[in-house]
Amino acid sequence: MTQSPILQNYINGQWCDSTGAHQDVTNPATAELLARVPLSSAAELNAAAEAAQTAFQIWRRTPPTQRVQYLFRLKMLLEEQFEDLARTITLECGKTLDEAKGELRRAIENVEIACGIPMMMQGTNLEDIASGIDELMIRQPLRVAAVIAPFNFPGMIPFWFMPYALACGNTYIVKPSERVPLTMQKVFQLLDKLDLPPGVINLVNGAKETVDAILDHPAIRAISFVGSTPVARYIYSRAAANGKRVQCQGGAKNPVIVLPDADIDMTTRITADSAFGCAGQRCLAASVAITVGKARTTYTEAIAHTAATRQVGNGLETGVQMGPVITAQSRERIESLIQLGADEGATVLVDGRQPQISGYEQGHFIRPTILQNVDPGSEIAKTEIFGPVLSLIYLDTLEEAIALVNSGQYGNMACLFTSSGAAARRFRYEAEAGNIGINIGVAAPMAFFPFSGWKDSFFGDLHSQGQHAVEFFTQTKVVVERWSQKDWSRQF
Ligand code: NAD
Repeated sequence: MTQSPILQNYINGQWCDSTGAHQDVTNPATAELLARVPLSSAAELNAAAEAAQTAFQIWRRTPPTQRVQYLFRLKMLLEEQFEDLARTITLECGKTLDEAKGELRRAIENVEIACGIPMMMQGTNLEDIASGIDELMIRQPLRVAAVIAPFNFPGMIPFWFMPYALACGNTYIVKPSERVPLTMQKVFQLLDKLDLPPGVINLVNGAKETVDAILDHPAIRAISFVGSTPVARYIYSRAAANGKRVQCQGGAKNPVIVLPDADIDMTTRITADSAFGCAGQRCLAASVAITVGKARTTYTEAIAHTAATRQVGNGLETGVQMGPVITAQSRERIESLIQLGADEGATVLVDGRQPQISGYEQGHFIRPTILQNVDPGSEIAKTEIFGPVLSLIYLDTLEEAIALVNSGQYGNMACLFTSSGAAARRFRYEAEAGNIGINIGVAAPMAFFPFSGWKDSFFGDLHSQGQHAVEFFTQTKVVVERWSQKDWSRQF
C-alpha cells in the first residue's frame, strides 16, 4: 500500500510540517484514506499571524494596481489546473465532477471581480465642505484577516473572501475544514508560484484549537466564518468580544413554495437539483417544498419519480447525478432524522436509507428521500438535515405559505415557483430571507452580489463577495483639510 501524504501548513512563504496530531482524510465514496491533515497548535497559528503581521507593512504599500497583478496570474493558474482541482474536490468531498467544476467557476469569478479593486476600493471626497475646507474618505486595509471554512465547498468558500482581502492590502490566513483540506493544499501550491512577499498568504490546517487561536490572536483584525449555526454563534461572540470585525455565515433550512400555476416539469427538475445536488449538503439546498392547493398532487408525483430515479454513485463517474455524504457519522445522523420525521407522523414516500451502491459498499451513501405530509410544527420541518431529504408540506394559500417561510429560524434562501408576476412580487417583498429565487432553486448570488443570509443563517453586517467584501476588508479614514486661501490661490 502506498503511503498517504501528510499535509503541510504554508507559513511565511514556506511549506512546513506540523508538530501536532494528525487526522485521517478519507474519500466519502470509498472510505479510502487520502491523506493525513495536521491539527495545528496555537503556536503554529501564532507563527502564521506574526508572519502575516510583518508582511502587512510591505503589502499595504504595494499599489493596488500591482496587487491585482498577482490575482490575474492566480486566475490563469486556476484555469490551467481546473480539471485537477475539480477532481480533488470530488475525491475529498464526494460531490459530482460537474458540481465541483461549478464551485470552482464561482471561486475564479471572485478572483476576477477582486481584480477590480482599483475601482472598488476608491473612497469619496467633497471640496469646500466649508469655505476652503475639503473632506475625503479613504479606504485602508485592516491588517491580518482569516477565514474558517466548512467542508461542503472546499474550493469555493475561501475565495468568497481571500481575493478581496489580498487586493485590499490585507495579509491573510486560510483555515480549511479538516475534513476536506486537500483542495486548499493544491490552491496554495499555485499561490506559492506567485512569488508574493512571504507572509502575505498563509495556510494553517486544523480544528478547534487552531480556530480558537485565530479568535484570540491580537494581530488578526477580521474573521470570516462559514459553517453551522452553533459554531457561527460561538465564533461571532468570541471574536467580537476580542474586538475583531467578524462575519459568520451559518446553517439553513430553505423552503421552496410551489403554486398551482407553476410549470411542474421545470419546477420538479430545478427543485430536485436543489434538494439533491451536492447530496443536499449545500447551504442553499431546498429542504422543504410547500405546495399550495392543487400543486400538491402534480408536484408530489413528479418529485417522487425524480427522486427515486436519480443516479447515485461515485461523483467521478459519468452519468452519476449525486455522490455520497461526507462521513459515516453524517449518514447516520441523516438517517436518524428521516426516522424522526416518520416518528412525527410523516410518510416516507421515497426512502433512500441504506442503499446498495455496487462497488462502493464502504461509501457513505444515502439515496434521495422524500418525506410527505410533514407537519409544519414538527421538529423535522425545522431542523437542518444537510442531506438529500426533501420534506413536503401541503397548504392552501400563498399567504399561509409565506407565513410558514417567515416563521423559520433561518433566512438563507426562499424560493417561489409560479407563472404569476403578482405572486412573485408579493413573495419577493414579504419573504424573510436574504437570497430569494423566483423559478430558481439555488439562488446563489454571483460574485458581484453579496451572499445575503438573514436571521440565524448570518451573524454580522457585511456579507461575503463583491462590494460587501471590499467594505469588510477595509476601514474608512476621513480627512478634513484646510489650506488658507492666501496659500493656494496665490500665483505660483
Ligand atoms: P462546522 O460548523 O462543523 O465547521 C466549520 C468550521 O468550523 C470548520 O473549519 C471547523 O474546523 C470549525 N469548527 C467546527 N467546530 C468548531 C468548534 N466547536 N469550535 C471552533 N471551530 C469549530 O460546519 P461544517 O459541517 O463543516 O459545514 C456544514 C455547515 O455549514 C452547515 O450547517 C451549512 O448550512 C453551513 N454552510 C453555510 C453556508 C452559508 O453560506 N450560510 C455555506 C456553506 C455551509
